[in-house]
Amino acid sequence: MIVVMKAHASPAEIQAVVERVEQAGFQAHQIVGVERTVVACVGEERGKDELAQLEFFPGVDSVLPILKPYKLAARELHPDGSRIRVGGVEIGGQRLTVMAGPCAIENSAQMEHAARAVRQAGGHMLRGGAFKPRTSPYSFQGMEYDGLLLLEQAGREVGLPVVTEVMDAHDIEQIADHSDMLQVGARNAQNFSLLRRLGKVNKPVLLKRGMSTRLDEFLMAAEYILSAGNPNVVLCERGIRTFETATRNTLDLNAIPVLKQWTHLPVIVDPSHGTGAESLVIPMALAAVAAGADGLMIEVHPEPEKALSDGPQQLHPARFAELMRSVRRVAEAVDRTL
Ligand code: PEP
Ligand code: MN
Repeated sequence: MIVVMKAHASPAEIQAVVERVEQAGFQAHQIVGVERTVVACVGEERGKDELAQLEFFPGVDSVLPILKPYKLAARELHPDGSRIRVGGVEIGGQRLTVMAGPCAIENSAQMEHAARAVRQAGGHMLRGGAFKPRTSPYSFQGMEYDGLLLLEQAGREVGLPVVTEVMDAHDIEQIADHSDMLQVGARNAQNFSLLRRLGKVNKPVLLKRGMSTRLDEFLMAAEYILSAGNPNVVLCERGIRTFETATRNTLDLNAIPVLKQWTHLPVIVDPSHGTGAESLVIPMALAAVAAGADGLMIEVHPEPEKALSDGPQQLHPARFAELMRSVRRVAEAVDRTL
């Protein structure tokens, strides 16, 4: 259930609602909007009849059921869409957010070169993998902690917030100390203990869709983070496994408008993993923006041909600059800015 407060409800009236919700055995999450506050009541469906009487509390406008199983991610809670702050960047507003950088951090020269390229082309955030989830245990596994420090330093030098993947709950604190946003990769999209732990972290989370995760399951994964106390979650569509083998994955652009209807969380798109091919990244980035994405994640490497991971899909800096120029034109056409 959600309790929608009247526009001018007093703090005491809101507090009285919260107390009643908690007495009924529910968690009360307050969502403070521009105009009014909404109190989301999360818990077992049993006992929800008790909440109906909240309609008669002072300051309450209405009490509505949330029919979807994801309660805190549901669009009803935040009809205008939420905006997530990462350093000085806001994700989810009218302005698009582009996060870019190498698949994996390989050495300081590579990371610094990529960071300057991203900054110069107008990117808003820097990415780079320090802990890499690789299909083969014999492939390069990432520079781990040393890589994290190189990413942090490169981000500082160019003045961009950084995002990097956390694969294991044991590394959360260390990664959170050196980055601005924590990424959950496709392979961990339904690692519920990891998600729950990320709910306790004071850093925003970029949650990637699993390669076989349905959109309702994707939102339930986000719900794990939200319900554990972290309201700052951004979703990322990065392609799913289908029967098609022409591309590495099938970038599911349907996901963008569907998620926009179902949730208030910002949605960004990763056409690099979604296609697996350098030549397909720009067209699908443009399509994602046209379909309503709030931003993009793009792999950029100074020398993609020498990359230690995902070489075929990484953009050379000049191609990334071309992507940014093209995205700007599509953004304007759909009333967004870059
Ligand atoms: C990545 O972004 O570095 C990555 C490994 O992506 P995904 O989890 O989507 O495969
Ligand atoms: Mn990659």
